[in-house]
Amino acid sequence: MLIAIDGPAAAGKGTLAGRLAASLGLAHLDTGLLYRATAARLMRGKSNATSEQAATAAAQSLSAGDLEGSQLRGERLAGLASLIATYDSVRSALIDFQRDFAASPPRGAKGAVLDGRDICSVILPDADIKIFVTANAEVRAERRYQELRGRGVHSIRSVILREMQERDERDRRREVAPMVLAGDAFLLDTTNMDADAAFEAAYEFVMLHHIENGRSE
Ligand code: C5P
Repeated sequence: MLIAIDGPAAAGKGTLAGRLAASLGLAHLDTGLLYRATAARLMRGKSNATSEQAATAAAQSLSAGDLEGSQLRGERLAGLASLIATYDSVRSALIDFQRDFAASPPRGAKGAVLDGRDICSVILPDADIKIFVTANAEVRAERRYQELRGRGVHSIRSVILREMQERDERDRRREVAPMVLAGDAFLLDTTNMDADAAFEAAYEFVMLHHIENGRSE
């Protein structure tokens, strides 16, 4: 089973994807980590961080080990990640990793959940289940603020909101693989939901879809 989840920053995609994967025995890939790890490589290197050539070379040299570590979760890295995510050659360099993960999930899992921005539209257009998770921007910024606070990171709410909206705009407007609500995706607005309620709604959708598919086979 393949589940594709897209949506803007801090909408709750990652938490939802992780919980669906755990409850269904699937592997989970947070594809944002690929872009963040590419950005982290660039920041470590001495080259011009935003050149397409340097970013593509960084994306090409990524390995699974680069995706580990909580240092990838910072807001500064997210900004650079969304800049280099506009480059076609960077996105192309990361496609195989994502599709290979879905085709042969690690540890013998019987499927995978991938979350990101272009999973339903570009990476796994034939996924069994597609979900677009969103929430009002203020609510998402507050969640990100609380998440950072929980990790002991001091930040300013209004700055988080502004930077998040800038990234969302860039993700929506870019020419290559923009963030879109795929026509066949289930729209899950978590503005007034906590993580449990979002999980229950998505799980119910997955189960219903499964029963319907079983009937039509
Ligand atoms: O999901 P996360 O906030 O970690 O992603 C960081 C950035 O990586 C996003 O703002 C987006 O520009 C990019 N990204 C993308 N396609 C994906 C996942 C992330 O363009 N599938």
